[in-house]
Amino acid sequence: MSIPPPECLKSPMHVPSKLLMGPGPSNSPPQVHQAMLKPLLGHLHPEFTQIMDEVKEGLRYLFQTKSDVVCCVSGTGHAGMEATMCNLLEPNDVILIAQNGIWGERAADMASRHEADVRVIKKPAGEIFQLDELEAALKEHRPAVLFLVQGESSSGALQPIYGVGPLCQKYGVLLAVDAVASLGGVPFFMDQWGVDVVYTGTQKVISAPPSMAPIAFSDRAMAKVRARKKPIRSFYADITWLANYWGCDGSPRKYHHTGPVSSVYALREALSLVCAEGLESLWARHAACAQRLHDGLTALNLQLFISDPAKRTPTVTTIKVPEGVDWMKVTKYFMNKYRVEISGGLGPSAGLVWRVGLMGYNCTSDNVDLVLKIMKEALDQQSIITSKL
Ligand SMILES: *Cc1c(COP(=O)(O)O)cnc(C)c1O
Repeated sequence: MSIPPPECLKSPMHVPSKLLMGPGPSNSPPQVHQAMLKPLLGHLHPEFTQIMDEVKEGLRYLFQTKSDVVCCVSGTGHAGMEATMCNLLEPNDVILIAQNGIWGERAADMASRHEADVRVIKKPAGEIFQLDELEAALKEHRPAVLFLVQGESSSGALQPIYGVGPLCQKYGVLLAVDAVASLGGVPFFMDQWGVDVVYTGTQKVISAPPSMAPIAFSDRAMAKVRARKKPIRSFYADITWLANYWGCDGSPRKYHHTGPVSSVYALREALSLVCAEGLESLWARHAACAQRLHDGLTALNLQLFISDPAKRTPTVTTIKVPEGVDWMKVTKYFMNKYRVEISGGLGPSAGLVWRVGLMGYNCTSDNVDLVLKIMKEALDQQSIITSKL
């Protein structure tokens, strides 16, 4: 044979233990890892579809919806975004995207690949959109879909969703929300808020490994999908197929793709932990830890990128890199000395901020205190005065 087995595969892989305090992935609890050791089942075996049904119930709780179509795209958060765009949009459909960071930019990229007529309202990273601004834009652009990012993990901004649903209904618009970096860390009420499509990722607040994008479609959203003139261009992300595979449409399940069996076990376990804790407690834990982190950072003389606390998502804190500080030296100090990940900025916030994630299993006061301790040391290394004396 001309291609021999590679040398690198003769030794075991190297996987160090790291504390992942960036904007994702977050660490998974041991129970979730253990769930993945369970034996494989066929992706249409009744024991497995039973587990899928239980996952669906957990997701209905997480999304706060009674909607029929609640399932997962096999793929990470981006797969949820892709599924949103390819199912809701037909060529020349107008989509209005509220852009205040990288996720709105990516959404615009994806929507344009589906040949939608993409309209953007733009704000600087860290800003959010007010209801009157959104209403003015809905009036001007008359879109079929409005796309918002609840937790903009590139800037740390929290976009309020409450109140947007009724506006969208007034103008006959579907409301799609990216809740990848926020769901579970802050309140979200799909039905009460009138959200038509929402998706998230398993590896952020849910604290399962990256692998799936939980997604929900309202009846209004499904009506738009069913009224399409042309078929959905992605077979893999076709929500009508996914809904059937996940047992959401009342017809017998057909083979669409092989579900990621072990990942579904992990999600089932992670959701059972979310349910045992309860959403209110989960939200309160994120708020309390974020407050502790923000107070500690301020005590170190650091400034938060978003000055108004009401506009911050507790799940991702953005910290201004002070003048004269090499941000990368700091993130390297975290990793090299403590095997703790914090990250730099992304897209519009690149070079300007550090980002610290507080998500799910990792969102504890001990982890906050550890991040603060390392941050002080790292800044001291660069002779930055961190005490307020
Ligand atoms: C992480 C993230 C995504 C993308 O998720 P992947 O799992 O990396 O594909 C999308 N939107 C937001 C807001 C995110 O934070």
